[in-house]
Amino acid sequence: MPSRPLTAATTTGPAIVWFRQDLRLADNPALVAAASGGRPVIPVFIRDTTDRLRPMGGASRWWLHHALAALRDALKRRHGLDLLLLSGDPATLLADLVRHTGAAAVCWNRLYEPAAIHRDTAIRSLLKEAGVTVETCNAGLLYEPWTVQTRAGGWFRVFTPFWRACLAGGGPAAPAPAPKHVAIWDGQPEGEQLEDWALLPQQPDWAGGLRESWQPGEAGAAARLAAFLDAALAGYADGRDRPDREATSRLSPHLHFGEIGPRQVWQAVQMHVAQHGGDAAKFLAELGWREFSHHLLYHFPDLPQRNFRDSFDAFPWQEDAGLLRSWQRGRTGYPLVDAGLRELWATGWMHNRVRMIAASFLVKHLRLHWREGEAWFWDTLVDADAASNAASWQWVAGSGADAAPYFRIFNPVVQGERFDPAGSYVRRWLPQLEKLPDKFIHKPWAAPAAVLRDAGVTLGRDYPAPIVDHDRARKAALAAFATLRNDAGEATGES
Ligand code: FAD
Repeated sequence: MPSRPLTAATTTGPAIVWFRQDLRLADNPALVAAASGGRPVIPVFIRDTTDRLRPMGGASRWWLHHALAALRDALKRRHGLDLLLLSGDPATLLADLVRHTGAAAVCWNRLYEPAAIHRDTAIRSLLKEAGVTVETCNAGLLYEPWTVQTRAGGWFRVFTPFWRACLAGGGPAAPAPAPKHVAIWDGQPEGEQLEDWALLPQQPDWAGGLRESWQPGEAGAAARLAAFLDAALAGYADGRDRPDREATSRLSPHLHFGEIGPRQVWQAVQMHVAQHGGDAAKFLAELGWREFSHHLLYHFPDLPQRNFRDSFDAFPWQEDAGLLRSWQRGRTGYPLVDAGLRELWATGWMHNRVRMIAASFLVKHLRLHWREGEAWFWDTLVDADAASNAASWQWVAGSGADAAPYFRIFNPVVQGERFDPAGSYVRRWLPQLEKLPDKFIHKPWAAPAAVLRDAGVTLGRDYPAPIVDHDRARKAALAAFATLRNDAGEATGES
């Protein structure tokens, strides 16, 4: 690009809209701001190749490719705009783009991860000093982290009062209307090709299950929401803990990449309830947990690395690459745990109840650090999210804010019998156990030899024997926990 000084920003030039985790046209206030007054718009997505942000995991990269392809198509189809793709340092690239196009404004929707906040604040100052108008907006959250405060003006560490405070204001703002017309800027430079970014896995191509399971993009998100409202919202409060049913929305990756905004989900739910009746409080509270996770990450930026409760700093974690590998690959010998990890590997998603059980198994039965599990989820989840992943792992480990107490140790057999009573979830992901009777589907090791033989299962060959004994692992976990300065209550229960 030919160089002009950055100070050459004009007041009549186009507006750049910098897409990030807001890959949609509807309810996109940055796009609305950029297009206001009929100003021509340059839509850009930048692959940040600096080492400032945590690199995306493989499943997220797969999703991003398809989400960008969908956005590129939607911008072209709806407004005739070309999505400009650039790689490098966003600070340099945006400054160059302003210079090259004489852009008068740069607009983006805010992110809440500490490193992104740091980067974006610096970019904002740089552009403003050069006389460029910078408009930043909220597209990703119902309530931004600094707007929800305790009576004393602090931040919340417990979910229930946090959510009560959120709701006290009378519900979130309405979604932003999509701009009807967005003008094209003729002088837009050539960008890169999405296909050259190599976001998709090549050899091997492990994404077959992801392709079968998901339709990334704004249209896919809208279809998913509509299907959920029609089929599952009414039974959500009862069904949400059942991995054997399609009872949750599966909106998490769409929300993470901003193909749909939480305000849109909120509004659609309210409208559905107004028309059809029912109670959506439980579902909306789950959106609340997403908000709470962002609140925690914003106010405790080390959440992905550091124990929220520092008493856990002294926890005697084990290091065992073999145990970690068995867990990652779904070879623990506990069917519900293994089914979950195989669902994750195949589809990039795992049911929330099974996430809790699989995570608890890693940190309590195996006593491996929650950061190992967080990292595996980061790489394999299509909804991998810095806030929700770290907050949830710390919640399960007991080291987090408003966390499950460490001494509550899930029994994967009891959990399986309760939440997958006919074993259909386990059978789906572990077909080698398909013929086991329901009675033993969650504990194959307890089946008599004849039953195993009839089901065609040889433990150790078709399916592993348990890598740890539940009772012994539980006692060892409680003993390890007892070595901590106990700020989490008395050790007792099992569930
Ligand atoms: P639904 O039940 O339909 O809920 C609607 C939406 O609410 C979800 O899409 C999600 O955005 C939000 N939500 C629901 N439950 C939670 C929760 N407990 N915490 C935060 N937000 C929630 N969720 C992620 O989006 N990204 C992650 O990286 C992530 N990692 C997790 C790790 C562990 C160990 C655990 C136990 C949970 C994790 N979760 C994460 C939370 C939760 O499991 C998923 O959000 C949920 O399973 C997504 O499925 P759904 O869209 O069908 O959820």
